[in-house]
Amino acid sequence: METRELIQNGNELRKDIVTMCYMSKAGHVGGSLSSIDILNTLYNAEMKHRPAQPDWSGRDRFVLSKGHVAESLFAVLAQQGYMEKEELGTFSAFGSRLIGHPNNKIDGIEMNTGALGHGVCVAVGMAIAGKMDHCPWRVYCLMGDGEQAEGSVWEAAMAAAHYNLDNLVLILDRNGLQISGNTEDVMALRDIHLKYEAFGFNVIETDGHNYEDLMAAFTLARHTKEKPTLIVANTVKGKGISFMENVAAWHHGVLNEEQYMQAMKELEEQA
Ligand SMILES: [Mg+2]
Repeated sequence: METRELIQNGNELRKDIVTMCYMSKAGHVGGSLSSIDILNTLYNAEMKHRPAQPDWSGRDRFVLSKGHVAESLFAVLAQQGYMEKEELGTFSAFGSRLIGHPNNKIDGIEMNTGALGHGVCVAVGMAIAGKMDHCPWRVYCLMGDGEQAEGSVWEAAMAAAHYNLDNLVLILDRNGLQISGNTEDVMALRDIHLKYEAFGFNVIETDGHNYEDLMAAFTLARHTKEKPTLIVANTVKGKGISFMENVAAWHHGVLNEEQYMQAMKELEEQA
């Protein structure tokens, strides 16, 4: 997809996310809206994958380590044709496959995630496996900034550099907020890029809502040899909905009818 299409597509994905969260009275709307432009770029402009052949061995692998924003991944997968779009209406309902975290019973989902700090470890293992078998596919993993407080993230980072995993791209959704407030108050990340650089990563900092910048960052990562890449994607929690932006309470806030109408109106105006 070209930039213009990505922008339109991102707007549609935001409507899907907001609607899923409103209908279900569940979900993690703030983080879904901060990460959706990254997912949109990955699935429509970066990763090699085949919705009609989900188990294609040559596919690039994606792991949503911040698994609580599952609705953003479900929205993208439905749009790609991995499931019927109508199924999004079952999000979080009893008996639905679309539970509150990624579920590998759904085509296109590699692993169940949501226990923070786990997805990134498995993504590193996938990248090691790919290297051992001399596979051309790459591994992409999206992490939260609150998630960086998990010690296992740093074990994974150390291993990724040790094994020279240039087939691995970690993306940090740097929205500055986590469930209980500002990341710098809860568990300060400070200059997170310096930490990853010290661990041996190629670090790229970018605007996580600018499609051209995101595509350029992924291209740079692809051309980096002998090192894993971390993309620090600077984002806004709740991006696109005025009353949600940069408000920690929208980590898993539930929209009332009036808020839903307002959110959809704003997205219509942006379209
Ligand atoms: Mg965050």
